[in-house]
Amino acid sequence: MIPVTSFNNQKLALFGLGGSGLATAQALKAGGADVVVWDDNPDSVEKARLAGLNTADLHGIDWSGMAAFVLSPGVPLTHPKPHWTVDLARAAGVAIIGDVELFVRERRAQAPDCPFVAITGTNGKSTTTALVAHILRASGRDVQMGGNIGTAVLTLEPPVSGRYYVVECSSYQIDLAPTINPTAGILLNLTPDHLDRHGDMQHYADVKNRLVEGSDLAIVGVDDDYCRRIAERLENASRQVVRISKNTPVAQGFYNDAHRIFLGTEQGGGLVADLNGIPTLRGSHNAQNAAAAIAACLAVGLTEEEVRAGLASFAGLKHRMQPVGRRGKVVFVNDSKATNADASAPALSSYERIYWIAGGLPKAGGIASLQPLFSRIAKAYLIGEAAAEFAATLGHEVPFEISGTMDRALAHAATDAQADGVEVAVILSPACASFDQYKNFEVRGDAFVALVSELDGVTMLVQQPAGEK
Ligand code: ADP
Repeated sequence: MIPVTSFNNQKLALFGLGGSGLATAQALKAGGADVVVWDDNPDSVEKARLAGLNTADLHGIDWSGMAAFVLSPGVPLTHPKPHWTVDLARAAGVAIIGDVELFVRERRAQAPDCPFVAITGTNGKSTTTALVAHILRASGRDVQMGGNIGTAVLTLEPPVSGRYYVVECSSYQIDLAPTINPTAGILLNLTPDHLDRHGDMQHYADVKNRLVEGSDLAIVGVDDDYCRRIAERLENASRQVVRISKNTPVAQGFYNDAHRIFLGTEQGGGLVADLNGIPTLRGSHNAQNAAAAIAACLAVGLTEEEVRAGLASFAGLKHRMQPVGRRGKVVFVNDSKATNADASAPALSSYERIYWIAGGLPKAGGIASLQPLFSRIAKAYLIGEAAAEFAATLGHEVPFEISGTMDRALAHAATDAQADGVEVAVILSPACASFDQYKNFEVRGDAFVALVSELDGVTMLVQQPAGEK
């Protein structure tokens, strides 16, 4: 735990005990703060009380005595409308911050030289975060990884000289971290997502921009208009910017040509790394993630050799295009995290011939947008509530069967794939939510991996349970 000392002997209020809130409150208490906590869910309040925290309905407290208000990133700050606690804090003129802000203040106070890499973007955050942390660890560095990736940032080990921090930040966390100042800040990409919580695209972009705005070195993916404008503005302000681009050379940064990553300069490009043969980094989206990770690792002092060694041994993240087993010419890929058609596109783009397990609880729009990738699908195995709808979309273009359940789908796909005789992939990339048949996408992915591991003659590429997340 990182005891938060910056509010020693001061009063704070905290709302939102579902996710990282409890750990944040404990870190504040351990640092000597007088913190009062609350949640709209009585069970969470009770849990906090049993954990020894001071609980009180924040309607009734004296807000004028509060040094700050700590809000959980899951609670609306602005959209669709501010939570009632936000209104109360604002009315009393109390600053509203989150756990990442508490972390960055503590780092500045205790060990400001600790290299700190922060990662945001619409897609690829967790992969890039895990990759940066892995490369640093593989080089022997002392690394702490947390934030939105799942480990509350204040549960990490405290900042001491020589320790590296790699922190994934959602836009909500950035919104609550006004003084975030990473050594290297990565903004991967910006596409419409979560706009229900951000109002409009410009506001969403403005929030994400704050992470690179505060960074010593800004690493920005310039393939979309919002990010490109952010990079240009920083460059015009003479800030240090490294550009990242997919498939297009850049003069000041890193780009890929297929699986090769180049450092671009005014004189041309120099090869830095080759992702060929790294199964966890297939596809141009992963080239973007890898290029950004390379830029960050070099910025915090690694050599190119160290970076290459780390890339080669990256095990990938669970449920995200993760190769989990192999039998002869057939690789089995768990992409259970793909809960809508857009998220399935990278997996379907990354393999030439695919036996595709899809379906679950359908999302609006179905899989029509994946039509340009249908020619790669040797056969589809449809499960869950979406099966009939997906079957109608596949029509005469793609052979399919309605398997109904995952065990049938995998058994049939594995047999058909083996009979194919060429290099093929059996991919679970459902393009659907999981809730009709599973508790969540993790349980769905684990079920797939367990079924793969039971196939005769399969070599597993992961341990069970697998991955870094
Ligand atoms: P996030 O943490 O931002 O949700 P993840 O790293 O967990 O992203 O990846 C989730 C899914 O998003 C992946 O399975 C892949 O389909 C897609 N993805 C990953 N990286 C990128 C990227 N750089 N650009 C677009 N899509 C990506």
